Amino acid sequence: MRIVLESRRFQMLSDYHLHLRPDGHDARAEDYFTEANVERYRQVADERGIGELGVSEHVYRFEQVLDVWRHPFWVGYARDDLDAYCSFVREQTDLRLGIEADFVAGAEDRMASLLQARDFDYVIGSVHFIREGAVDMDDYSVWDSGRSVEEIWRRYFETIGEAARSGLFDVLAHPDLVKVWGAERPLPDGDLRRYYELALDGIAESGIAVEVSTAGLRKRVKELYPSPVFLEMCLEVGAPVALSSDAHRPEDVGADYEQALELLDSLGVGELCVFEHRERRLEPIGAGERTS
Ligand SMILES: [Zn+2]
Ligand SMILES: [Zn+2]
Repeated sequence: MRIVLESRRFQMLSDYHLHLRPDGHDARAEDYFTEANVERYRQVADERGIGELGVSEHVYRFEQVLDVWRHPFWVGYARDDLDAYCSFVREQTDLRLGIEADFVAGAEDRMASLLQARDFDYVIGSVHFIREGAVDMDDYSVWDSGRSVEEIWRRYFETIGEAARSGLFDVLAHPDLVKVWGAERPLPDGDLRRYYELALDGIAESGIAVEVSTAGLRKRVKELYPSPVFLEMCLEVGAPVALSSDAHRPEDVGADYEQALELLDSLGVGELCVFEHRERRLEPIGAGERTS
């Protein structure tokens, strides 16, 4: 994709939800947290006119997270040093420094301590678990818990609202991730706004930015996150938008942005969030040069 709008200045596209490595135990920090790997992400971003880039590794891959929560999935993964990651991004790259942190109900204070002790540009908040059950993984799957689809969807969107209201996060990641499996898991009947409503007060009151993510297009559901209806509801309560691909490899940086930009345009969204040291501003949407 190359959108050329050279007559206007200060336009930009962002991709803030990037992982420098695939998920999985084999992908070691020392092999992927390198300047050469970051340059691969930058090159794809340059080709696609995306100037504003940030990295947001999963918080559960860092050993310090075990002070926050000891879910067995996290215990299996938490082995890298969070401060070494922060130093690498700050000192050896020109990327914004972010992190993807899960919302863990009951552990808000401990997560706040971990996040506030570091100089992030932004924190992306995710809900991957409903209590102990994973929404988007086969391991520890909430779909094997015996709960009804209505209960899972209701709890998921209630938790999204709690995550927003916690004040821990600048951006709400993939806001309707619960649909990730598409028809491979049960789906609720009828108008889904009854679920989206459960998250809306938290989104409205917190002022959190809502992520529009193209990652869902690469999953079984094959849809953007969030659904257009949910996004429209978020916009109506004043939520600004952060645009991301959730790439885990260079070739997915800015993947399918045409679809996301078309949706944003159709809903009258003309600006995207930019973050620096956890301060937010809005910039007009458009292809541009590197901004940092
Ligand atoms: Zn995520
Ligand atoms: Zn992610």
